[in-house]
Parts: sequence; structure tokens; C-alpha cells
Amino acid sequence: MNHQAMIQGVSSGAESPAPMILIENLHKSYGHNDVLKGINLAIAKGEVVTIIGPSGSGKSTLLSCINFLESYDEGRIVVDGAVIGYVEDGKGRRIRMPEKDLNALRQQIGIVFQQYNLFPHMTVLQNIIEAPIQVAGMSRAEAIAVARLQLDRVGLRNKENAYPSELSGGQQQRVAIARGLAMMPKLMLFDEVTSALDPELVGEVLGVMRDLAADGMTMMVVTHEMAFARDVGDRVVFMDDGRIVEEGPPDQLFYAPRKERTRAFLKRVLTPQSGL
Ligand code: ADP
Ligand code: MG
Repeated sequence: MNHQAMIQGVSSGAESPAPMILIENLHKSYGHNDVLKGINLAIAKGEVVTIIGPSGSGKSTLLSCINFLESYDEGRIVVDGAVIGYVEDGKGRRIRMPEKDLNALRQQIGIVFQQYNLFPHMTVLQNIIEAPIQVAGMSRAEAIAVARLQLDRVGLRNKENAYPSELSGGQQQRVAIARGLAMMPKLMLFDEVTSALDPELVGEVLGVMRDLAADGMTMMVVTHEMAFARDVGDRVVFMDDGRIVEEGPPDQLFYAPRKERTRAFLKRVLTPQSGL
């Protein structure tokens, strides 16, 4: 059976299209610490899934496994039809994919972290064109054209010659998003990208992510911003202790949660300040 047939064989219905991301029975531990305890999740093309849950529940580890920044111990991750991480040898043993193949797959997955990690000695434009030229093999002219397009998208075209230190935290994070988009990824992963920002800068970054979602980008967004999780997520996933406790449409998850653990978490985080 080829990959495509395998994926369709496990998706919910024969008529439903293959998901952009398929995670099956994902397990990951650090030493004796079981961090992911059997995650199952399928995300459709163009879907926005927001992930909430207490600190230490495995949210960052999950995102890191998807683009294989972290290895995993058991299960399978399939991105747009291609398994990422491991292949089976002739005897059915799991072996790590060659680095070259992993890098080719990673290029399709944009990831933005809480810390934007721009190169301080490079201008905004240089930061953005670096990977497209060095990793994706784009010509310099092509990379610049793509970078300007993405800077337009995040509203920072006029800052292409600025250095990161000349920008606010919100602007730097928008550059980091443009840098991810410049690789033309099939999906974007966001890990608490507004957590390090001053409150007055959070809105501009969330606004860029809202536009991306409206443009049809497939996104997984780990966030503490409950109003954002509710308003932008097509689906909300609540994680606790290495498991998906509950998932559902935002209104159901926030206002009619089925599980006691979800209710307890929401009770803690849904303060008058959360805007919900
Ligand atoms: P979250 O993002 O939900 O706060 P994490 O995925 O960062 O959770 O962490 C889940 C668990 O994995 C925590 O117990 C954390 O201490 C542990 N952990 C995360 N990264 C590492 C690492 N690199 N080495 C060892 N333990 C880790
Ligand atoms: Mg985290």
C-alpha cells in the first residue's frame, strides 16, 4: 500500500480528503518522564487548531515533534502525506530518516517560538532571505521578492533595512513570522508567540495570525490568549499531562466542556481579564 492509500485508510471517512497533519498514538519521554502519552490528532488543510493547557502538559513538545526538532518514541506523524521522522527497514524496525530527507520535510513546516531569535547583526531583509537562499536554494533576487511579499503581509515592508534592535518586540515577532512564511510552508506552528510581549504589543501579532488564518493557512497555535483560541480556532484542543483531554469547536470547549479537568482549567484561566 502506498502512503496515500495508508492515510486514507485511517482517516475518518473514505470521502474525506487526506489531512494536512495526522498524528497517531504519539509517545515521547525524556528519560523516565512520559511527556506525550498517546496523542491522536488529524488536522485538515486550511484548518486552524488552537491548543490550550497548563504549563508542562506537553504542548511545546508536541509541536517540536511535528517538525522533528525532537525525536519521538512511538507512533506516527504524517504531514501532507509524508511520514516525518522514521522509516521502516526491511525487518520492520524503525530507523531515523536521513538528515537530508528530514530537512526537506522540515522546510514545509514553519515554526515560530516565544523567543523570536532573529540574527541581531542582520537587517530584517537579510534575516528573511537567509534560509530561502541557503536552505531552499532560491536565487537572491527570488528570495528578496518573496521576502518583500511576506513583509507586506505582516505590515513591515518599510522596515526591511532596520536591524532587530531597532524594532519593538511585536515588530520582531512579525518579522519572525514573515521569515517562516518566506519558506512557503504548507503549515505553520506557533508556540506561545505572544507570551514574551508587552501587553500592548500582543494585538498586532495576533492580528497577523488572524489574517494568515483567513488566508487559508493550516495552523497549530499553542496559546495562553483564550479569546484568540476561541475566535480564531476552528477547533480547540485541551491538553493536560501528556494527553488530549478534550477537543471540540470553540463554543463547545469553552462554554460546554465535557470533562471535569477541562472545566477546572478554564475556571482558573477564564478571568475577567481574559476577555471571555
Ligand atoms: P508545555 O509546552 O505544555 O508547557 P513542554 O512540552 O514544554 O510543556 O514540557 C512537557 C514536559 O517535558 C515537562 O515536564 C518538561 O519539564 C519536560 N521537558 C520539556 N523539554 C524537555 C527537555 N528538553 N529535556 C527534558 N525534559 C523536557
Ligand atoms: Mg510550552
